[in-house]
Amino acid sequence: MRDIHHFIGGKPFESQSGRFSDVFDPNTGDVQARVSLASQQDVMVAVASAKAAFEDWSLTNPQRRARVMFEFKRLLENNITELAELLSCEHGKVVADSKGDIQRGIDVVEFACGIPHLQKGEYTQDAGPGIDVYSMRQALGVTVGITPFNFPAMIPCWMGAVSVACGNTFILKPSEKDPSVPLRLAELMLEAGAPEGVFNCLNGDKLAVDALLTHADVKAISFVGSSDIAQYVYATGTAHGKRVQAMGGAKNHGIIMPDADMDQVVKDIVGAAYGSAGERCMALPVAVPVGQKTADAFIERMLDAAKELRVGVSTDSEAHFAPVVSAAHKHKIESYIQMGVDEGAELKLDGRGLKLQGHENGFFIGPSLFDYVKPDMQSYKEEIFGPVLQIVRAETLEEATALATNHQYGNGVAIFTRSGRIARDFAAKVQVGMVGINVPIPVPVSYHSFGGWKRSAFGDVNQHGPEGVRFWTKVKTITQRWPEGDIADQAFIIPTMQ
Ligand code: NAD
Repeated sequence: MRDIHHFIGGKPFESQSGRFSDVFDPNTGDVQARVSLASQQDVMVAVASAKAAFEDWSLTNPQRRARVMFEFKRLLENNITELAELLSCEHGKVVADSKGDIQRGIDVVEFACGIPHLQKGEYTQDAGPGIDVYSMRQALGVTVGITPFNFPAMIPCWMGAVSVACGNTFILKPSEKDPSVPLRLAELMLEAGAPEGVFNCLNGDKLAVDALLTHADVKAISFVGSSDIAQYVYATGTAHGKRVQAMGGAKNHGIIMPDADMDQVVKDIVGAAYGSAGERCMALPVAVPVGQKTADAFIERMLDAAKELRVGVSTDSEAHFAPVVSAAHKHKIESYIQMGVDEGAELKLDGRGLKLQGHENGFFIGPSLFDYVKPDMQSYKEEIFGPVLQIVRAETLEEATALATNHQYGNGVAIFTRSGRIARDFAAKVQVGMVGINVPIPVPVSYHSFGGWKRSAFGDVNQHGPEGVRFWTKVKTITQRWPEGDIADQAFIIPTMQ
Protein backbone atom coordinates (compact mmCIF):
# COMPACT_ATOMS: atom_id res chain seq x y z
CA MET A 1 0.00 0.00 0.00
CA ARG A 2 1.39 3.40 -1.06
CA ASP A 3 1.32 6.13 1.58
CA ILE A 4 1.02 9.75 0.45
CA HIS A 5 2.48 12.31 2.83
CA HIS A 6 3.19 16.05 2.71
CA PHE A 7 5.74 18.30 1.00
CA ILE A 8 7.02 20.95 3.40
CA GLY A 9 10.12 23.14 3.29
CA GLY A 10 11.23 21.71 -0.05
CA LYS A 11 11.16 18.05 1.00
CA PRO A 12 8.80 15.16 1.59
CA PHE A 13 7.48 15.33 5.13
CA GLU A 14 6.15 12.26 6.87
CA SER A 15 3.47 12.97 9.43
CA GLN A 16 3.36 11.14 12.73
CA SER A 17 -0.38 11.85 13.08
CA GLY A 18 -1.26 8.19 12.51
CA ARG A 19 -4.44 9.38 10.72
CA PHE A 20 -5.05 8.34 7.12
CA SER A 21 -7.78 8.49 4.50
CA ASP A 22 -8.21 5.92 1.71
CA VAL A 23 -7.51 6.98 -1.87
CA PHE A 24 -9.60 4.93 -4.29
CA ASP A 25 -9.24 3.98 -7.92
CA PRO A 26 -12.78 4.90 -9.07
CA ASN A 27 -12.44 2.54 -12.06
CA THR A 28 -12.09 -0.55 -9.89
CA GLY A 29 -13.41 0.59 -6.52
CA ASP A 30 -10.13 -0.58 -4.94
CA VAL A 31 -8.17 1.37 -2.37
CA GLN A 32 -4.92 2.22 -4.15
CA ALA A 33 -3.17 4.37 -1.50
CA ARG A 34 -3.58 6.03 1.86
CA VAL A 35 -3.16 9.76 2.31
CA SER A 36 -1.84 11.06 5.58
CA LEU A 37 -4.10 13.51 7.42
CA ALA A 38 -2.13 16.32 9.05
CA SER A 39 -2.10 16.88 12.78
CA GLN A 40 -2.14 20.29 14.48
CA GLN A 41 1.62 19.89 14.86
CA ASP A 42 2.07 19.28 11.09
CA VAL A 43 0.16 22.50 10.39
CA MET A 44 2.52 24.38 12.73
CA VAL A 45 5.53 22.98 10.87
CA ALA A 46 4.09 23.92 7.46
CA VAL A 47 3.22 27.47 8.51
CA ALA A 48 6.62 27.97 10.19
CA SER A 49 8.36 26.77 7.04
CA ALA A 50 6.32 29.08 4.80
CA LYS A 51 6.89 31.96 7.20
CA ALA A 52 10.65 31.43 7.22
CA ALA A 53 10.74 31.50 3.41
CA PHE A 54 8.61 34.63 3.06
CA GLU A 55 11.03 37.50 3.54
CA ASP A 56 13.61 36.42 0.97
CA TRP A 57 10.97 35.40 -1.54
CA SER A 58 8.97 38.62 -1.21
CA LEU A 59 12.19 40.59 -1.75
CA THR A 60 13.11 38.57 -4.83
CA ASN A 61 12.62 40.86 -7.78
CA PRO A 62 9.46 40.23 -9.84
CA GLN A 63 11.37 39.27 -12.98
CA ARG A 64 13.06 36.43 -11.11
CA ARG A 65 9.76 35.30 -9.64
CA ALA A 66 8.37 35.33 -13.18
CA ARG A 67 11.27 33.15 -14.37
CA VAL A 68 10.23 30.50 -11.83
CA MET A 69 6.74 30.62 -13.35
CA PHE A 70 8.12 30.25 -16.89
CA GLU A 71 10.07 27.18 -15.76
CA PHE A 72 7.09 25.79 -13.81
CA LYS A 73 5.00 26.13 -16.98
CA ARG A 74 7.64 24.27 -19.01
CA LEU A 75 7.78 21.45 -16.43
CA LEU A 76 3.99 21.09 -16.37
CA GLU A 77 3.93 20.93 -20.16
CA ASN A 78 6.75 18.37 -20.27
CA ASN A 79 5.02 16.19 -17.69
CA ILE A 80 1.42 16.63 -18.83
CA THR A 81 0.88 12.99 -19.85
CA GLU A 82 2.25 11.55 -16.62
CA LEU A 83 0.27 14.09 -14.57
CA ALA A 84 -2.96 13.42 -16.51
CA GLU A 85 -2.71 9.66 -15.96
CA LEU A 86 -2.04 10.17 -12.27
CA LEU A 87 -4.97 12.57 -12.03
CA SER A 88 -7.37 10.24 -13.83
CA CYS A 89 -6.52 7.20 -11.75
CA GLU A 90 -7.54 9.02 -8.53
CA HIS A 91 -10.29 11.33 -9.79
CA GLY A 92 -11.81 8.98 -12.35
CA LYS A 93 -12.24 11.43 -15.25
CA VAL A 94 -11.04 10.42 -18.72
CA VAL A 95 -7.36 11.14 -19.44
CA ALA A 96 -8.11 13.69 -22.20
CA ASP A 97 -10.25 15.64 -19.73
CA SER A 98 -7.46 15.47 -17.12
CA LYS A 99 -5.15 17.01 -19.72
CA GLY A 100 -7.69 19.82 -20.06
CA ASP A 101 -7.67 20.25 -16.25
CA ILE A 102 -3.86 20.59 -16.31
CA GLN A 103 -3.89 22.85 -19.38
CA ARG A 104 -6.32 25.23 -17.66
CA GLY A 105 -3.84 25.31 -14.76
CA ILE A 106 -0.94 25.97 -17.14
CA ASP A 107 -2.92 28.89 -18.58
CA VAL A 108 -2.98 30.51 -15.15
CA VAL A 109 0.76 29.87 -14.68
CA GLU A 110 1.26 31.60 -18.05
CA PHE A 111 -0.77 34.55 -16.76
CA ALA A 112 1.42 34.62 -13.62
CA CYS A 113 4.53 34.88 -15.86
CA GLY A 114 3.43 38.48 -16.43
CA ILE A 115 3.74 39.39 -12.74
CA PRO A 116 6.38 42.15 -13.23
CA HIS A 117 3.79 44.08 -15.19
CA LEU A 118 0.74 42.95 -13.20
CA GLN A 119 2.14 43.94 -9.81
CA LYS A 120 3.23 47.45 -10.78
CA GLY A 121 1.83 50.24 -8.67
CA GLU A 122 0.55 53.67 -9.67
CA TYR A 123 2.25 57.05 -9.60
CA THR A 124 1.03 60.65 -9.61
CA GLN A 125 3.63 63.33 -10.05
CA ASP A 126 2.90 66.71 -8.47
CA ALA A 127 -0.28 65.69 -6.69
CA GLY A 128 0.43 68.90 -4.68
CA PRO A 129 3.28 71.41 -4.68
CA GLY A 130 6.43 69.25 -4.70
CA ILE A 131 4.33 66.27 -3.63
CA ASP A 132 4.17 62.91 -5.42
CA VAL A 133 1.87 60.03 -4.58
CA TYR A 134 2.59 56.43 -5.46
CA SER A 135 1.27 53.02 -4.54
CA MET A 136 2.78 49.58 -4.38
CA ARG A 137 1.21 46.13 -4.29
CA GLN A 138 2.97 44.09 -1.63
CA ALA A 139 2.81 40.40 -0.83
CA LEU A 140 0.73 39.36 2.20
CA GLY A 141 2.89 36.66 3.83
CA VAL A 142 1.88 33.03 4.41
CA THR A 143 -1.15 32.20 2.26
CA VAL A 144 -3.31 29.08 1.97
CA GLY A 145 -5.28 27.36 -0.79
CA ILE A 146 -7.91 24.73 0.10
CA THR A 147 -9.09 22.87 -2.98
CA PRO A 148 -11.85 20.43 -4.05
CA PHE A 149 -11.48 17.02 -5.67
CA ASN A 150 -12.87 17.90 -9.08
CA PHE A 151 -10.00 19.98 -10.53
CA PRO A 152 -6.87 18.84 -8.66
CA ALA A 153 -4.50 20.59 -11.11
CA MET A 154 -6.35 23.69 -12.32
CA ILE A 155 -7.62 25.03 -9.00
CA PRO A 156 -4.31 24.68 -7.09
CA CYS A 157 -2.75 26.66 -10.00
CA TRP A 158 -5.46 29.35 -9.81
CA MET A 159 -4.34 30.00 -6.26
CA GLY A 160 -0.74 28.82 -5.90
CA ALA A 161 0.70 30.24 -9.12
CA VAL A 162 -0.73 33.73 -8.61
CA SER A 163 -0.01 33.85 -4.88
CA VAL A 164 3.61 32.72 -5.27
CA ALA A 165 4.20 34.97 -8.29
CA CYS A 166 3.06 37.92 -6.14
CA GLY A 167 5.80 37.12 -3.60
CA ASN A 168 3.79 35.19 -1.03
CA THR A 169 4.59 31.78 0.33
CA PHE A 170 1.85 29.20 -0.04
CA ILE A 171 0.40 26.11 1.63
CA LEU A 172 -1.85 23.97 -0.54
CA LYS A 173 -4.38 21.81 1.35
CA PRO A 174 -5.84 19.68 -1.45
CA SER A 175 -8.79 17.32 -1.40
CA GLU A 176 -7.98 14.06 0.35
CA LYS A 177 -9.73 12.20 -2.50
CA ASP A 178 -7.06 12.88 -5.16
CA PRO A 179 -3.92 14.23 -3.49
CA SER A 180 -1.14 12.98 -5.80
CA VAL A 181 -1.19 15.67 -8.51
CA PRO A 182 -1.26 18.54 -5.98
CA LEU A 183 1.78 16.96 -4.30
CA ARG A 184 3.56 16.78 -7.69
CA LEU A 185 2.80 20.49 -8.21
CA ALA A 186 4.73 21.30 -5.03
CA GLU A 187 7.67 19.17 -6.20
CA LEU A 188 7.66 20.76 -9.66
CA MET A 189 7.51 24.29 -8.23
CA LEU A 190 10.69 23.51 -6.26
CA GLU A 191 12.29 22.04 -9.38
CA ALA A 192 11.30 25.21 -11.25
CA GLY A 193 13.41 27.26 -8.84
CA ALA A 194 11.05 28.35 -6.05
CA PRO A 195 13.10 28.27 -2.83
CA GLU A 196 12.31 25.71 -0.14
CA GLY A 197 9.20 26.57 1.84
CA VAL A 198 7.69 28.80 -0.86
CA PHE A 199 5.15 26.20 -2.09
CA ASN A 200 4.13 23.52 0.40
CA CYS A 201 1.54 20.79 0.19
CA LEU A 202 -0.18 19.70 3.36
CA ASN A 203 -2.70 16.87 3.16
CA GLY A 204 -5.54 16.71 5.63
CA ASP A 205 -9.17 17.09 6.56
CA LYS A 206 -11.23 19.42 8.76
CA LEU A 207 -8.60 19.33 11.49
CA ALA A 208 -5.96 20.82 9.16
CA VAL A 209 -8.43 23.34 7.68
CA ASP A 210 -9.46 24.56 11.14
CA ALA A 211 -5.85 24.89 12.27
CA LEU A 212 -5.02 26.93 9.14
CA LEU A 213 -8.13 29.13 9.50
CA THR A 214 -7.17 30.14 13.02
CA HIS A 215 -3.36 30.29 12.78
CA ALA A 216 -2.11 33.82 13.52
CA ASP A 217 0.60 33.67 10.83
CA VAL A 218 -1.76 32.80 7.97
CA LYS A 219 -2.75 36.02 6.19
CA ALA A 220 -5.05 34.91 3.38
CA ILE A 221 -7.12 31.87 2.47
CA SER A 222 -8.57 30.92 -0.86
CA PHE A 223 -11.13 28.10 -0.79
CA VAL A 224 -13.04 26.21 -3.47
CA GLY A 225 -15.53 23.47 -2.59
CA SER A 226 -19.14 22.97 -1.58
CA SER A 227 -21.17 25.95 -0.37
CA ASP A 228 -21.75 25.03 3.28
CA ILE A 229 -18.01 24.48 3.81
CA ALA A 230 -17.22 27.63 1.78
CA GLN A 231 -19.49 29.66 4.04
CA TYR A 232 -17.92 28.13 7.13
CA VAL A 233 -14.40 28.83 5.85
CA TYR A 234 -15.35 32.41 4.98
CA ALA A 235 -16.98 33.06 8.37
CA THR A 236 -14.21 31.45 10.42
CA GLY A 237 -11.30 32.87 8.43
CA THR A 238 -12.61 36.43 8.40
CA ALA A 239 -13.49 36.21 12.11
CA HIS A 240 -9.80 35.47 12.65
CA GLY A 241 -8.77 38.55 10.69
CA LYS A 242 -7.81 36.86 7.45
CA ARG A 243 -8.54 37.82 3.88
CA VAL A 244 -10.80 35.06 2.50
CA GLN A 245 -12.32 34.21 -0.86
CA ALA A 246 -14.48 31.06 -0.78
CA MET A 247 -16.09 29.64 -3.91
CA GLY A 248 -18.99 27.21 -3.46
CA GLY A 249 -21.37 24.96 -5.35
CA ALA A 250 -23.39 25.58 -8.49
CA LYS A 251 -26.49 24.73 -10.49
CA ASN A 252 -26.00 26.29 -13.90
CA HIS A 253 -28.89 26.82 -16.31
CA GLY A 254 -28.77 26.63 -20.11
CA ILE A 255 -31.60 28.68 -21.65
CA ILE A 256 -32.65 27.63 -25.14
CA MET A 257 -34.52 30.25 -27.18
CA PRO A 258 -36.86 29.20 -30.01
CA ASP A 259 -34.47 30.70 -32.60
CA ALA A 260 -31.42 28.72 -31.43
CA ASP A 261 -29.59 26.28 -33.72
CA MET A 262 -30.93 23.07 -32.15
CA ASP A 263 -28.23 20.77 -33.55
CA GLN A 264 -25.54 22.95 -32.01
CA VAL A 265 -27.48 23.28 -28.73
CA VAL A 266 -27.79 19.51 -28.29
CA LYS A 267 -24.08 19.00 -29.03
CA ASP A 268 -23.15 21.73 -26.56
CA ILE A 269 -25.47 20.65 -23.75
CA VAL A 270 -24.75 16.92 -23.96
CA GLY A 271 -21.04 17.66 -23.36
CA ALA A 272 -21.67 20.32 -20.73
CA ALA A 273 -24.18 18.22 -18.76
CA TYR A 274 -22.45 14.85 -18.86
CA GLY A 275 -18.75 15.62 -19.46
CA SER A 276 -16.56 14.66 -16.47
CA ALA A 277 -19.67 12.80 -15.18
CA GLY A 278 -21.19 16.18 -14.32
CA GLU A 279 -18.56 16.78 -11.65
CA ARG A 280 -17.77 20.33 -12.76
CA CYS A 281 -18.86 23.51 -11.04
CA MET A 282 -19.40 24.95 -14.53
CA ALA A 283 -21.36 21.93 -15.82
CA LEU A 284 -24.81 22.63 -17.27
CA PRO A 285 -27.18 20.34 -15.32
CA VAL A 286 -30.36 22.37 -16.00
CA ALA A 287 -31.75 23.00 -19.49
CA VAL A 288 -34.55 25.54 -19.89
CA PRO A 289 -36.21 25.41 -23.30
CA VAL A 290 -38.45 28.40 -23.92
CA GLY A 291 -41.83 27.49 -25.40
CA GLN A 292 -43.52 24.13 -26.00
CA LYS A 293 -42.13 23.64 -29.53
CA THR A 294 -38.55 24.31 -28.41
CA ALA A 295 -38.96 21.92 -25.48
CA ASP A 296 -40.34 19.07 -27.56
CA ALA A 297 -37.63 19.43 -30.23
CA PHE A 298 -34.87 19.68 -27.67
CA ILE A 299 -35.96 16.72 -25.54
CA GLU A 300 -36.34 14.36 -28.46
CA ARG A 301 -32.84 15.04 -29.77
CA MET A 302 -31.25 15.29 -26.34
CA LEU A 303 -32.63 11.92 -25.33
CA ASP A 304 -31.15 10.33 -28.47
CA ALA A 305 -27.80 12.02 -27.83
CA ALA A 306 -27.72 10.97 -24.16
CA LYS A 307 -28.53 7.34 -25.03
CA GLU A 308 -25.55 7.30 -27.39
CA LEU A 309 -23.05 8.24 -24.71
CA ARG A 310 -20.30 5.79 -23.89
CA VAL A 311 -19.33 5.41 -20.25
CA GLY A 312 -15.96 3.75 -19.82
CA VAL A 313 -12.84 3.57 -17.71
CA SER A 314 -10.63 6.67 -17.51
CA THR A 315 -8.11 5.24 -19.96
CA ASP A 316 -10.77 4.44 -22.59
CA SER A 317 -10.08 7.04 -25.27
CA GLU A 318 -13.53 6.46 -26.79
CA ALA A 319 -15.41 7.08 -23.53
CA HIS A 320 -17.41 10.30 -23.19
CA PHE A 321 -17.16 10.08 -19.44
CA ALA A 322 -15.88 7.73 -16.77
CA PRO A 323 -16.70 6.90 -13.12
CA VAL A 324 -17.53 9.41 -10.42
CA VAL A 325 -15.06 10.00 -7.63
CA SER A 326 -16.30 7.74 -4.83
CA ALA A 327 -18.90 5.17 -3.85
CA ALA A 328 -20.40 7.68 -1.42
CA HIS A 329 -20.78 10.26 -4.18
CA LYS A 330 -22.32 7.66 -6.49
CA HIS A 331 -24.92 6.83 -3.83
CA LYS A 332 -25.64 10.53 -3.31
CA ILE A 333 -26.31 11.03 -7.04
CA GLU A 334 -28.53 7.95 -7.13
CA SER A 335 -30.53 9.19 -4.18
CA TYR A 336 -31.08 12.54 -5.95
CA ILE A 337 -32.42 10.61 -8.95
CA GLN A 338 -34.84 8.80 -6.66
CA MET A 339 -35.79 12.13 -5.08
CA GLY A 340 -36.61 13.53 -8.54
CA VAL A 341 -38.84 10.52 -9.27
CA ASP A 342 -40.57 10.83 -5.90
CA GLU A 343 -41.15 14.54 -6.46
CA GLY A 344 -42.97 13.81 -9.70
CA ALA A 345 -40.44 14.75 -12.39
CA GLU A 346 -40.45 12.47 -15.47
CA LEU A 347 -37.34 10.29 -15.60
CA LYS A 348 -36.76 9.76 -19.33
CA LEU A 349 -33.38 8.06 -18.95
CA ASP A 350 -32.12 6.32 -15.82
CA GLY A 351 -28.34 5.95 -15.37
CA ARG A 352 -28.59 3.94 -12.17
CA GLY A 353 -27.44 0.36 -12.00
CA LEU A 354 -24.81 0.65 -14.73
CA LYS A 355 -22.20 -2.12 -14.46
CA LEU A 356 -19.11 -2.19 -16.61
CA GLN A 357 -17.87 -5.68 -17.45
CA GLY A 358 -14.62 -6.38 -15.63
CA HIS A 359 -15.12 -3.27 -13.47
CA GLU A 360 -18.21 -4.29 -11.53
CA ASN A 361 -17.04 -2.48 -8.37
CA GLY A 362 -16.13 0.77 -10.13
CA PHE A 363 -18.09 3.93 -9.31
CA PHE A 364 -19.96 4.07 -12.62
CA ILE A 365 -23.26 5.72 -13.24
CA GLY A 366 -24.84 6.29 -16.64
CA PRO A 367 -26.49 9.45 -17.98
CA SER A 368 -29.90 10.39 -16.55
CA LEU A 369 -32.43 12.79 -18.00
CA PHE A 370 -35.45 14.33 -16.31
CA ASP A 371 -38.28 16.27 -17.96
CA TYR A 372 -40.97 18.35 -16.24
CA VAL A 373 -38.72 19.37 -13.35
CA LYS A 374 -40.35 22.17 -11.30
CA PRO A 375 -38.62 25.00 -9.45
CA ASP A 376 -40.06 23.97 -6.09
CA MET A 377 -38.54 20.47 -6.23
CA GLN A 378 -35.69 19.82 -3.81
CA SER A 379 -33.79 17.90 -6.48
CA TYR A 380 -33.79 21.12 -8.55
CA LYS A 381 -32.86 23.44 -5.70
CA GLU A 382 -29.77 21.45 -4.70
CA GLU A 383 -26.55 20.63 -6.51
CA ILE A 384 -26.41 16.99 -7.68
CA PHE A 385 -22.88 17.10 -9.18
CA GLY A 386 -23.39 14.02 -11.32
CA PRO A 387 -24.40 12.99 -14.87
CA VAL A 388 -28.01 14.12 -14.47
CA LEU A 389 -29.69 16.66 -16.75
CA GLN A 390 -32.91 18.27 -15.50
CA ILE A 391 -35.24 20.00 -17.95
CA VAL A 392 -37.36 22.83 -16.62
CA ARG A 393 -39.82 24.14 -19.19
CA ALA A 394 -40.48 27.88 -19.40
CA GLU A 395 -43.02 29.83 -21.43
CA THR A 396 -41.06 33.05 -21.80
CA LEU A 397 -37.50 34.36 -21.63
CA GLU A 398 -38.48 36.37 -18.54
CA GLU A 399 -39.58 33.16 -16.79
CA ALA A 400 -36.36 31.39 -17.84
CA THR A 401 -34.18 34.29 -16.68
CA ALA A 402 -35.99 34.38 -13.35
CA LEU A 403 -35.16 30.70 -12.78
CA ALA A 404 -31.42 31.38 -12.99
CA THR A 405 -31.71 34.66 -11.11
CA ASN A 406 -33.76 33.22 -8.24
CA HIS A 407 -31.72 30.05 -7.76
CA GLN A 408 -29.60 29.91 -4.60
CA TYR A 409 -26.50 29.35 -6.75
CA GLY A 410 -25.21 31.85 -9.29
CA ASN A 411 -22.02 30.44 -10.75
CA GLY A 412 -22.61 30.20 -14.50
CA VAL A 413 -25.46 30.45 -16.99
CA ALA A 414 -25.71 30.09 -20.76
CA ILE A 415 -28.17 31.34 -23.35
CA PHE A 416 -28.54 29.83 -26.81
CA THR A 417 -30.01 32.23 -29.36
CA ARG A 418 -29.37 33.83 -32.74
CA SER A 419 -30.53 37.22 -31.48
CA GLY A 420 -27.82 39.62 -30.36
CA ARG A 421 -30.39 41.89 -28.75
CA ILE A 422 -31.88 39.10 -26.62
CA ALA A 423 -28.43 37.88 -25.59
CA ARG A 424 -27.20 41.37 -24.72
CA ASP A 425 -30.25 42.10 -22.61
CA PHE A 426 -30.06 38.73 -20.88
CA ALA A 427 -26.35 39.16 -20.01
CA ALA A 428 -27.07 42.52 -18.42
CA LYS A 429 -30.08 41.35 -16.38
CA VAL A 430 -29.33 37.83 -15.11
CA GLN A 431 -28.06 37.57 -11.53
CA VAL A 432 -25.22 35.11 -12.16
CA GLY A 433 -21.44 35.66 -12.12
CA MET A 434 -20.37 34.08 -15.44
CA VAL A 435 -22.50 34.17 -18.59
CA GLY A 436 -22.13 32.20 -21.82
CA ILE A 437 -23.73 33.38 -25.06
CA ASN A 438 -23.88 30.28 -27.26
CA VAL A 439 -21.03 29.02 -25.05
CA PRO A 440 -22.15 26.21 -22.75
CA ILE A 441 -19.28 26.34 -20.24
CA PRO A 442 -18.26 30.00 -19.91
CA VAL A 443 -15.14 29.51 -17.77
CA PRO A 444 -13.26 32.78 -18.26
CA VAL A 445 -9.73 32.62 -19.69
CA SER A 446 -6.88 32.98 -17.19
CA TYR A 447 -6.33 36.71 -17.76
CA HIS A 448 -9.97 37.42 -16.91
CA SER A 449 -11.42 36.45 -13.53
CA PHE A 450 -13.45 33.47 -12.35
CA GLY A 451 -16.18 33.79 -9.76
CA GLY A 452 -19.86 33.18 -9.14
CA TRP A 453 -22.54 35.10 -7.24
CA LYS A 454 -24.92 34.28 -4.38
CA ARG A 455 -24.13 30.96 -2.65
CA SER A 456 -21.54 30.14 -5.31
CA ALA A 457 -18.99 32.53 -3.79
CA PHE A 458 -18.40 34.15 -0.43
CA GLY A 459 -16.11 37.18 -0.38
CA ASP A 460 -15.83 39.81 -3.05
CA VAL A 461 -12.71 39.14 -5.08
CA ASN A 462 -12.55 36.55 -7.86
CA GLN A 463 -9.93 33.97 -8.80
CA HIS A 464 -7.01 34.71 -11.18
CA GLY A 465 -6.78 37.53 -13.70
CA PRO A 466 -6.39 41.07 -12.31
CA GLU A 467 -8.77 40.16 -9.45
CA GLY A 468 -6.41 37.36 -8.40
CA VAL A 469 -3.48 39.76 -8.19
CA ARG A 470 -5.61 42.08 -6.06
CA PHE A 471 -6.57 39.23 -3.74
CA TRP A 472 -2.98 38.09 -3.16
CA THR A 473 -1.50 41.58 -2.57
CA LYS A 474 -2.16 44.58 -0.37
CA VAL A 475 -1.83 48.17 -1.47
CA LYS A 476 0.45 50.62 0.25
CA THR A 477 0.16 54.28 -0.77
CA ILE A 478 3.03 56.70 -0.23
CA THR A 479 2.76 60.49 -0.27
CA GLN A 480 6.20 62.11 -0.48
CA ARG A 481 7.84 65.50 -0.61
CA TRP A 482 11.43 66.61 -0.38
CA PRO A 483 11.26 70.14 1.14
CA GLU A 484 13.98 72.64 0.53
CA GLY A 485 14.59 76.05 2.13
CA ASP A 486 12.32 77.43 4.86
CA ILE A 487 10.66 75.13 7.35
CA ALA A 488 6.92 75.02 6.60
CA ASP A 489 4.41 76.42 9.09
CA GLN A 490 2.70 74.08 11.50
CA ALA A 491 -0.63 72.93 10.10
CA PHE A 492 -3.64 72.07 12.22
CA ILE A 493 -6.17 71.54 9.50
CA ILE A 494 -6.39 68.44 7.34
CA PRO A 495 -3.93 68.90 4.43
CA THR A 496 -5.56 69.38 1.03
CA MET A 497 -3.98 69.76 -2.39
CA GLN A 498 -5.78 73.09 -3.18
P1 NAD B 1 -15.83 19.75 -0.33
O1 NAD B 1 -16.50 20.98 0.16
O2 NAD B 1 -16.26 18.44 0.21
O3 NAD B 1 -14.25 19.84 -0.07
C1 NAD B 1 -13.49 20.96 -0.43
C2 NAD B 1 -12.32 21.10 0.53
O4 NAD B 1 -12.80 21.33 1.84
C3 NAD B 1 -11.44 19.86 0.59
O5 NAD B 1 -10.08 20.25 0.63
C4 NAD B 1 -11.86 19.19 1.89
O6 NAD B 1 -10.82 18.47 2.51
C5 NAD B 1 -12.27 20.37 2.75
N1 NAD B 1 -13.34 20.03 3.70
C6 NAD B 1 -14.31 19.09 3.55
N2 NAD B 1 -15.12 19.08 4.63
C7 NAD B 1 -14.67 20.04 5.48
C8 NAD B 1 -15.10 20.51 6.75
N3 NAD B 1 -16.17 20.00 7.37
N4 NAD B 1 -14.41 21.51 7.33
C9 NAD B 1 -13.34 22.04 6.71
N5 NAD B 1 -12.88 21.62 5.51
C10 NAD B 1 -13.54 20.64 4.89
O7 NAD B 1 -15.96 19.77 -1.93
P2 NAD B 1 -15.59 18.62 -2.96
O8 NAD B 1 -16.61 17.54 -2.88
O9 NAD B 1 -14.16 18.26 -2.87
O10 NAD B 1 -15.77 19.42 -4.34
C11 NAD B 1 -17.00 19.55 -5.01
C12 NAD B 1 -17.67 20.86 -4.69
O11 NAD B 1 -16.82 21.95 -5.06
C13 NAD B 1 -18.96 21.07 -5.49
O12 NAD B 1 -19.91 21.67 -4.64
C14 NAD B 1 -18.54 22.03 -6.58
O13 NAD B 1 -19.58 22.81 -7.13
C15 NAD B 1 -17.55 22.88 -5.86
N6 NAD B 1 -16.66 23.57 -6.79
C16 NAD B 1 -16.84 24.91 -6.93
C17 NAD B 1 -16.04 25.62 -7.81
C18 NAD B 1 -16.21 27.09 -7.96
O14 NAD B 1 -15.31 27.74 -8.47
N7 NAD B 1 -17.32 27.68 -7.54
C19 NAD B 1 -15.05 24.94 -8.53
C20 NAD B 1 -14.89 23.57 -8.36
C21 NAD B 1 -15.72 22.89 -7.47
